[in-house]
Amino acid sequence: MSVSLTDLDAAAVQAWVRRADALVTEHADELTALDAAIGDADHGSNMRRGLNAAVNALDGGTSETPEAVLKQVAMTLISKVGGASGPLYGTFFLRMSTSVKGLEHLDLDALVQAMEAGVAGIVQRGKAQAGEKTMLDAWYPALEALRGGTDLADGVLAARAAADAGRDATEPMLATKGRASYLGERSVGHVDPGASSTALLVQALAEVVTGGAA
Ligand code: ADP
Ligand code: MG
Repeated sequence: MSVSLTDLDAAAVQAWVRRADALVTEHADELTALDAAIGDADHGSNMRRGLNAAVNALDGGTSETPEAVLKQVAMTLISKVGGASGPLYGTFFLRMSTSVKGLEHLDLDALVQAMEAGVAGIVQRGKAQAGEKTMLDAWYPALEALRGGTDLADGVLAARAAADAGRDATEPMLATKGRASYLGERSVGHVDPGASSTALLVQALAEVVTGGAA
């Protein structure tokens, strides 16, 4: 039986990124297929390239605090991932990094604050709101669920379920931001690729905290 983490140190944040890389690599073709339906069929390859590069950077680097790990990931995503999602996810990780500055261990409260800062960065950069069929439609419910957690494991498990539900809820939405908005009504009836990759990031977090029980 595995014991859940009560906080995240630098090694656990690295483990999150590595698990996210593995999950995105495993699901890259699905993410690309979703983007083929309402975008330009590159979301899976974008995310796989970015997270593979982030893991390589962590392997070769000396990121010894949560802040440093998150910043390394942010810089790699910004430089390696083109398209809308690179700067958006890059900003997410950069704002998280700033939020956890000086902390060796992230408890639930610190993680909530960091995720709030990250999501605010996505909003500032992409100017989207809830319901516009973007990654925010997975981040917002995940964040709300995390806030309601009684401890870290409870919070991330609830966030994972909420992110999955948020992803699924994008299917009937009309896209009004990003490339999918060019399709107008034809964007309806497809799950948003960015909401899907967000759900994988949250899944990875839940798995790392709970030792794979998620
Ligand atoms: P591109 O659209 O440039 O090809 P990707 O395919 O990698 O980039 O990413 C597409 C995803 O980015 C979308 O599915 C959506 O979730 C997200 N996205 C696009 N524009 C925005 C925005 N303004 N705010 C939040 N997320 C966005
Ligand atoms: Mg695309």
